[in-house]
Amino acid sequence: MAKNYFPQAIQNLAESLARLPGIGPRSAERLTMAMFNWKSTDLQILAEQLCQLHEKVVVCENCGNLADTELCFICSDPRRDRALLCIVETFLQIPVIEKSSSFKGLYHVLGGRLAPLDGMGPENLNLQSLKKRINEDKVQEIILATSPDMEGQATAHFLADLFKDDDVTISRIALGIPVGADLSFADSASMAMAINQRREID
Ligand SMILES: [Zn+2]
Repeated sequence: MAKNYFPQAIQNLAESLARLPGIGPRSAERLTMAMFNWKSTDLQILAEQLCQLHEKVVVCENCGNLADTELCFICSDPRRDRALLCIVETFLQIPVIEKSSSFKGLYHVLGGRLAPLDGMGPENLNLQSLKKRINEDKVQEIILATSPDMEGQATAHFLADLFKDDDVTISRIALGIPVGADLSFADSASMAMAINQRREID
């Protein structure tokens, strides 16, 4: 067992921080020691902010994005084009597309993608409310912005098939982004190109 060089409270925090992406044990120790030098009031504010992540953040009841109130800032913005719906796998993709300034419609978060080997079937995706939105909100075009890897492509084809009889244009984002990339972390220039060069699915 590794020797413990730090008091228990410091070790505990370092172990929690080391669970974050990109933070190894050494960085976690450095961050913990840096925070140890903070004023108690600042540490209390940080503790409160951590608690609020789950207490204050809600899921937008319209699109599935993260929000402060029942509707996210996009769904509650009257300037957004409600006839245009961009379908994404996760809410992580929304800030990436927003930063690209290439899209002025609304979003719909699927909450995953089809991955039969991981037990993700159509019943696990947020499809009921998607159908309802397409029918009730007079949507004219849906843009399938699932990732350009195998499962993302399969999900896009499934959705294109699902809505082929609806009176709606179905397009797929173009590949401004590398094949196999995780769209949650795509750069915004590539994302803008992908949205602008989307093509209709026949
Ligand atoms: Zn929303």
